[in-house]
Amino acid sequence: MVANEPASHEVLGAHKPGAGRYAPSPSGDLHLGNLRTALVAFLAARGTCRDFLLRIDDIDRARDKGFAERQLADLRRLGIVWELPVMKQSERDHAYYVALQTLCEQDRVYECVCSRKDILTAPTAPHAPPGAYPGICRTLSTAALQRAKAKIAPRLPALRLKVAASERQLCFTDLIKGRVCAPIDDFVLRRGDGVYAYNLATVVDDAAAGVDQVVRGDDLASSTPRQILLARLLNAPAPSYAHVPLVVNARGVRLAKRDGAVTLAQLREQGVGTAEVLQMLLLSLGMAADPLATDALKAAACDFAFHKLSRDPFVFKGF
Ligand code: GLU
Repeated sequence: MVANEPASHEVLGAHKPGAGRYAPSPSGDLHLGNLRTALVAFLAARGTCRDFLLRIDDIDRARDKGFAERQLADLRRLGIVWELPVMKQSERDHAYYVALQTLCEQDRVYECVCSRKDILTAPTAPHAPPGAYPGICRTLSTAALQRAKAKIAPRLPALRLKVAASERQLCFTDLIKGRVCAPIDDFVLRRGDGVYAYNLATVVDDAAAGVDQVVRGDDLASSTPRQILLARLLNAPAPSYAHVPLVVNARGVRLAKRDGAVTLAQLREQGVGTAEVLQMLLLSLGMAADPLATDALKAAACDFAFHKLSRDPFVFKGF
């Protein structure tokens, strides 16, 4: 198979497909890069007869300063709609707890007292990527662990996944990028402050919601092997993955707030309407649908195919 062709399960077969989703973190207003990814997720789901779900990744509750509602409003303005209630990670601790227990029962979890500094200054295993956890706490004796835990109190130990030597690298076929391989270290499942980690939460939520098509930003592609491994251990079906190339500024740097008007609200202030933004985003995806038509996104969904998308970042040069 050519790497950028749709995988066979992307093509409608005898079974009704599950769902696609968009899962923003409510850490700010959505910028053009986020909106473009959301659009791809929506068109991909609609174009393959999937349900489209919206999830708010607010597991780190402190970060939501009312942004979630603004994000949902911006998505609706673009014509991105969903039927089912929005899933919120802040309401799903019990499901994460149950998944963690499943991993504990498989003897796959260990406590870790290491600080960021401990990890950065520890000798790394040969060929390990920078920042990979070298497994310091995995081999501590019970007595040494107890002493270390007493030292860090009242902070609690984090919980990490025991990754076997044979699982330390995993490859998958991305629907846009083709073959992607990334290393897997003993990554965190629950942080020392009790917050469940992104990788665990995402796998549990996608499985619970029947998501079988994950579309998200390219920056998360290297996390995907971890999630595929977790899904296997939790006996959850692995979804297909599509990582959308980022939007960058004229200097090739990932689009950010400092690049000026990059959110719908900012653009509106500059006289750029939502229809114009939608047209620009559709064009950036190689689609020439008329955004003023009431069914612009329906037409775009009909025309949508992952293999038509560019693998390169999209350079935003302004309106
Ligand atoms: N919440 C993540 C973000 O906004 C995306 C998570 C995902 O799609 O798996 O970057």
